[in-house]
Amino acid sequence: MTSIVDVKKETGAILDKLGVPRSAWTGGDMASFSPVTGEEIARLPAMSSGNCGAAIDSAETAFKAWRKVPAPRRGELVRLLGEELRAAKDDLGRLVSIEAGKIPSEGAGEVQEMIDICDFAVGLSRQLYGLTIATERPGHRMMETWHPLGVVGVITAFNFPVAVWSWNTALALVCGNSVVWKPSEKSSLTALACQAILERALKRFGDAPDNLMQVLIGDRDAGEAIVDNPKVALVSATGSTRMGREVGPRLAKRFARAILELGGNNGGIVCPSADVDMTLRAVAFGAMGTAGQRCTSMRRLFVHESLYDKLVPRLKAAYESVSIGNPLETSALVGPLIDKLAFDNMQKALEAAKAAGGSVTGGERIAEAGKDTAYYVRPAIVEMPDQTGPVLEETFAPILYVMKYSDFDAAIQAHNAVGAGLSSSIFTLDMQEAEQFLSDEGSDCGIANVNIGTSGAEIGGAFGGEKETGGGRESGSDAWKAYMRRATNTVNYSKQLPLAQGVSFDI
Ligand code: NAD
Repeated sequence: MTSIVDVKKETGAILDKLGVPRSAWTGGDMASFSPVTGEEIARLPAMSSGNCGAAIDSAETAFKAWRKVPAPRRGELVRLLGEELRAAKDDLGRLVSIEAGKIPSEGAGEVQEMIDICDFAVGLSRQLYGLTIATERPGHRMMETWHPLGVVGVITAFNFPVAVWSWNTALALVCGNSVVWKPSEKSSLTALACQAILERALKRFGDAPDNLMQVLIGDRDAGEAIVDNPKVALVSATGSTRMGREVGPRLAKRFARAILELGGNNGGIVCPSADVDMTLRAVAFGAMGTAGQRCTSMRRLFVHESLYDKLVPRLKAAYESVSIGNPLETSALVGPLIDKLAFDNMQKALEAAKAAGGSVTGGERIAEAGKDTAYYVRPAIVEMPDQTGPVLEETFAPILYVMKYSDFDAAIQAHNAVGAGLSSSIFTLDMQEAEQFLSDEGSDCGIANVNIGTSGAEIGGAFGGEKETGGGRESGSDAWKAYMRRATNTVNYSKQLPLAQGVSFDI
């Protein structure tokens, strides 16, 4: 059994090894807890809003210098960051497990995602292309150019404490911006570790401006200091839809750019031809993995009536037998919930589901290693007569609502009939069903998969969702465009001044 002293000690040892100054995580007023044991592991000094403002001022100065550095050279910094992350992968992955409760392969997987986005961004640093566009005026050339935007504010959630920062920061840096990062108050130690890792890359890089990327430690007040500061050109905010409802209008008020990456209520449709074994594994990982604490976790499953009795009893058996335990010392597949609030919310949702006619398997608290301050639960599978009550909302816990369907079109309609629009899956070997699901009339989500679960996206694609998920896109594809401003340039190399649209204005 890992005692609190061990977790605390190990946290300190990792932070020391990664070069995080002790003053950044001891003696402060903001307590940090590990969900593995539920006990306090560090005390961080939170920043006042005045300090946040000063940091943003210095980030603006850094931006003005950084934008002059050629983009491929900026890519070199991100290449070095990737190298430093490779070197720190085991330590940072372990710290993610300590702070977010992820099992080791998921902790390490999160760091791998950081490395992958660095590789992507290095290539991107030579591909920030604009178009050359045919012009209607003779002797003219028209083109678009992309320019750095300014200070980018990054606000992140507890459940992907480091990857989301890297998605934003790797792109923001190659695009010529500076970054201020407000991590979740539930996972700020990993942020300090990332800052230390980046510092090493900056040192090797040599001549980057000071304060190019700063971590602002604090609760939502620090987030608000970023959101309301007119010097922050873009805010990329990841978290609950509740947070987005507060942040979105405030950014709109000052016409700031926003990338909102909010809650998901992700669904899957299991069709008559589905490969049951594959579906079982995909649903089990999608719904129980990370203890249901991924924005892309599978939360709703529509199973065709012809397959229901083949799949659902096997799923229930998987729920009853899945290993749950301390991710630091067991090979359990399901670690803890982040805190008591998450547990209480889960129990409330299960009660509401029962009241709405649901039949619940699992959901009970597991006494892990005698700790009464940690919250380990058996994932819950709930057979629902209908998509009602708590099924319509995201509960950030391992609850999978299962519903029977008979008509495919009605299943798609039900799938889309929730507020969130992040990720979705169909399990079918029928090409027509698969294509319909991916079509204009199919899933309304930002991510739509065939024969894969809802979670586990790769960095090469654009990541994000529609409706109450906020509409933002991060990571791959052309998501970089959100981190730059576009200018359309027309050059007249003729000796005439022909006006567009044939307008005549002779003076
Ligand atoms: P949360 O909304 O409680 O907090 C997220 C971040 O926003 C934290 O850093 C918090 O301090 C900050 N914040 C909260 N209110 C704010 C305000 N008014 N102004 C500025 N900042 C504010 O979310 P959480 O519990 O940390 O994370 C879980 C949620 O995040 C889930 O809903 C999950 O689906 C979502 N999430 C979404 C994505 C995505 O990419 N769509 C990824 C990860 C998590």
